[in-house]
Amino acid sequence: MGLEIHLFPCLADNYGILIRDQATGLAATVDTPDADAILSEAGRLGWKLALVLNTHWHPDHAGGNQAIKNATGAEIVGPPEVTRIAPLDRPVGDGDEVRLGDTRLRVIQTDGHTQGHLSYYAAEAGAVFVGDTLFALGCGRLFEGTAQDMWTSLGKLAALPDATRVYCAHEYTASNARFALSLDRDPQVAARCAAVFAARAEGRPTVPTTIGLEKATNPFLRAPLLASALGRFSSDAEAFGLVRAAKDGFQG
Ligand code: ZN
Ligand code: FE
Repeated sequence: MGLEIHLFPCLADNYGILIRDQATGLAATVDTPDADAILSEAGRLGWKLALVLNTHWHPDHAGGNQAIKNATGAEIVGPPEVTRIAPLDRPVGDGDEVRLGDTRLRVIQTDGHTQGHLSYYAAEAGAVFVGDTLFALGCGRLFEGTAQDMWTSLGKLAALPDATRVYCAHEYTASNARFALSLDRDPQVAARCAAVFAARAEGRPTVPTTIGLEKATNPFLRAPLLASALGRFSSDAEAFGLVRAAKDGFQG
């Protein structure tokens, strides 16, 4: 038995992510960007939400907690910082295990975008839910953490098996691809960006991606190879910081 994963677009550029443990039929939502959209999608699938897995406290990730709680009674699990804006039943942190029926999800602390940002790794299913840490060809902005924080977090994700499917919380990939092409001449990057533009022109999602594909083409994971065009650095984290700053100022 395994884990079913259902992805759907919501809000301006978020993804709703519903998961269901096939052995028990228990379902969860990763984050709560839009409670109405999540409840209607779960209803359409016939999935009963028992669990909310928050990645971080931002309103497009935890803003629907209360409404989902009211409608389903689901247990809300996430980093303690979620209580800044929304209800939380059970705070979790690095190394904790969360169970959805027979499915085990390992909590990986992935700070940088915010402090108290979590990813959830379902090893048997070969999937990781990364919120706003790693994006297809991109990574989250540094709102609360340092370049070192995010570099450490990206390193934890990059250490997962290459085939691991990566479920990011936003469809930012076309913009990320334009930035990648501005910095990276690698032919695999060019080929991937062409595939991304084609997918988006047809309205197809570029999520999930995989750890292997990101290691090969993501300019943030490739920062130590690319950052010398942007400035001087004396560590991989500083190289990452230069690429992150360049993306922050990139018009494209
Ligand atoms: Zn966020
Ligand atoms: Fe977000």
